[in-house]
Amino acid sequence: MNELLQELNEPVAVAQGVRLLLWRDDLAHPDLPGNKARKLKYNLQAARAQGHDTLLTFGGAYSNHLAAVATAGRLLGFRTFGLVRGDAPTAGTALNPTLTQAAADGMDLHYLDRSTYRRRAEPDFLAEVQARFGPAYVLPEGGTNALALHGCAELASEIRAQVAFDTLALAVGTGGTLAGLLTGLRGPEQALGVAALKNGSFLRAEVDELTQQAAGQAFANYSLQTDYHFGGYAKYSAELLAFIKQFRLRHGVLLDPIYTSKMMFGVLDLIRQGHFARGSTVVAIHTGGQQAWAGWQQRFGRLGG
Ligand SMILES: *Cc1c(COP(=O)(O)O)cnc(C)c1O
Repeated sequence: MNELLQELNEPVAVAQGVRLLLWRDDLAHPDLPGNKARKLKYNLQAARAQGHDTLLTFGGAYSNHLAAVATAGRLLGFRTFGLVRGDAPTAGTALNPTLTQAAADGMDLHYLDRSTYRRRAEPDFLAEVQARFGPAYVLPEGGTNALALHGCAELASEIRAQVAFDTLALAVGTGGTLAGLLTGLRGPEQALGVAALKNGSFLRAEVDELTQQAAGQAFANYSLQTDYHFGGYAKYSAELLAFIKQFRLRHGVLLDPIYTSKMMFGVLDLIRQGHFARGSTVVAIHTGGQQAWAGWQQRFGRLGG
């Protein structure tokens, strides 16, 4: 086992005869860890190959993807434009921690009101954007596209090289990471996605569409859990916060408040319910996202504990 793989001694897993491990993709790189970096890898290669020196992307004001693009730009020498959903902060108010870091990484931030932001994937709008900001390699919101899937497929082979597993569990936002993993699974290996947002059943069609584009097929070897959203995207409860604190105490691992905490809560609950066969090995993936804590604490106060 390498240093990214951590055994999770959870009584509930022991009781159900499930071996539970955590893949610390949040530690995979000092500056650019987690699934947002995986999604960028082949996109950045394509950007270079196409002669681009500028990346342009979209995101909410606390977006992990926006943060990763800004950092990638700094590390790899791309100019970066971030088109942020919502109004510009009023003069004199500080940027939130995510945008402060993005700006420090050299990202040129611009704000789109919500109705304009909704056009972010329309070809006409993207042509207008390029006319305004100059030629750029455009990454969609969340970084999900066919090349992103290839980067995420590598996660499956890296984990397999360390441990034989039955199921990989991960948090789902757009479904790009799950779709990529599916294209990297072999034989009886399964994936289990935990939706970070409400009414997530539509994600199944998204994932199938993505794998269809990238690998020419939809996969059946995965389940999508939609009951662990805690009220919706970026919503939380006292129960979730208590879980995050306890998990940190038990394992020395800080989960993020938007994605991985809900995933881990869901996986443990499913183990408790006997969802996984006795004797099976489940690897939960810590996809990163801890940059969100600074902004979270600014809005809601310290996590404490
Ligand atoms: C974006 C993100 C996800 C979800 O990834 P998708 O490919 O959009 O489904 C999961 N975990 C973290 C930490 C993320 O930042």
